[in-house]
Amino acid sequence: MIMASLVKKRQKDYIRIRLPGGKEKTIPTQTGDRREAERRLRIIQDEGIKNMDLQTLTTTIREFAKERDWEQFHNPKDLAAALSIEVSELQEIMLWTPSDLSAKKIEERREAVEHEVGDILVYLLRFCDVTGIDPIEAATQKLKLNAEKYPVHKSKGNSRKYTEL
Ligand SMILES: [Mg+2]
Repeated sequence: MIMASLVKKRQKDYIRIRLPGGKEKTIPTQTGDRREAERRLRIIQDEGIKNMDLQTLTTTIREFAKERDWEQFHNPKDLAAALSIEVSELQEIMLWTPSDLSAKKIEERREAVEHEVGDILVYLLRFCDVTGIDPIEAATQKLKLNAEKYPVHKSKGNSRKYTEL
C-alpha cells in the first residue's frame, strides 16, 4: 500500500504521496474539492499509484508545466508535434529490427520503451488538457464509430481497410 494523505495548501486540498525511496509528491486535485480529493486518495491507497486516474495525472502534468512557466509553449500545434516526435522515438527503438523480433527488442530495451510510453501519454494528456478534449470520451466515441465501420462478420481475421471490406 502506498503512503498517502490529504494536505491543505492555500485553501486547496492536495494529495501527498510518499514514493518508494522516501521522496514525496504532492498532487493537486482538479477542483480543490475535499470529497473529490478523498475519493482519489482512496483509489491511490487501495490500488496504488499505477491506478491513478487520468484526471489526476492531467492535473499533475498541468502543475508541472505551470511551475516551470511552460504553459506559454504548450499550444496545440507544438504539443501535437511533441507527441508525434515521442511516438517516433518509440519507433526508433525497434528501427531495423525484423518485425518478428520486435517483441524481444521491447524486452531488451524495457526501460527505454517505458520512458517513451510515459512521454507519449504526458503529451497526449497535455494536448487534451489545453484543447478541452476528454480523452476517455474521445476514445469511447471512436471505438463506437470503428465498430460500425468494421463489423465483426466482415472484418474478423483480416486487416483490410473499411473501404475495402
Ligand atoms: Mg522521449
